[in-house]
Amino acid sequence: MSAVLVIAGVDSSGGAGLARDLRTLEQLGAQGLCAVTAVTVQSDTLLIACQLMPPQLVSAAIGAALESGRVAAVKIGMLGSAAIVHAVAAALPPGLGAPIVLDPVLASSAGGSLLDAGGQAALIEWLLPRATLLTPNLPEAAALLGTQVAVGEAALLQQAQQLRALGARAVLMKGGHAAGAQASDYLVSAADTQCLATARRAGRRRGTGCALAAAIAAGLAARLPLSEACRRAKDHVTQLFDAPR
Ligand code: PLP
Repeated sequence: MSAVLVIAGVDSSGGAGLARDLRTLEQLGAQGLCAVTAVTVQSDTLLIACQLMPPQLVSAAIGAALESGRVAAVKIGMLGSAAIVHAVAAALPPGLGAPIVLDPVLASSAGGSLLDAGGQAALIEWLLPRATLLTPNLPEAAALLGTQVAVGEAALLQQAQQLRALGARAVLMKGGHAAGAQASDYLVSAADTQCLATARRAGRRRGTGCALAAAIAAGLAARLPLSEACRRAKDHVTQLFDAPR
């Protein structure tokens, strides 16, 4: 069975972060190895506390996972600080040979920042150019580009291209924060642009961004083409919305 290395934070509520990632991998038939970047205490509506892990501990966990020889894809979520971003970038060798899905986690929907400005700058410099796929929602894309949240398809696609110009090989712009009856995500790569749409679900669920990126990484680890991995992951997340809490 293919394995995904998840580099992410723990959310005590279990709604997002590592617990969500590992559950998603299991549901899609992939194994998970992990490097914990932070332990957070959260409810559905509050970020109560956050303790970052020492960067050397994160590097050691990544090194141990890679030494196992089982890592077929990497999913990066919450990083928490510039020091941890550097540690992660240094621990993933340039010739890694496994795709990297980078979910630029900047804040919790429970409220509160999960990566400060220095961390964001480090992520742009050190990890974005390593990403096989970057998966921002619209506020994250705008924050990374230092601009306004895109309104409309043309502005969204322009921001996706700007993020590709920063080095991400492909960008999946998640339209969950946009308006309209369809929740449309746009996969923008060198090859083409594809729109992945579903009927918009009412309400909100924590951890859907985590689940989407983990599900894509599971698909890539199973050697699905990127667009198929994204489509399958979107179907998976749509089921999450439809499942009882
Ligand atoms: N908290 C942690 C520890 C996370 O890793 C993430 C996402 O990766 C979040 C919160 C954000 O999730 P949500 O958008 O559901 O708040």
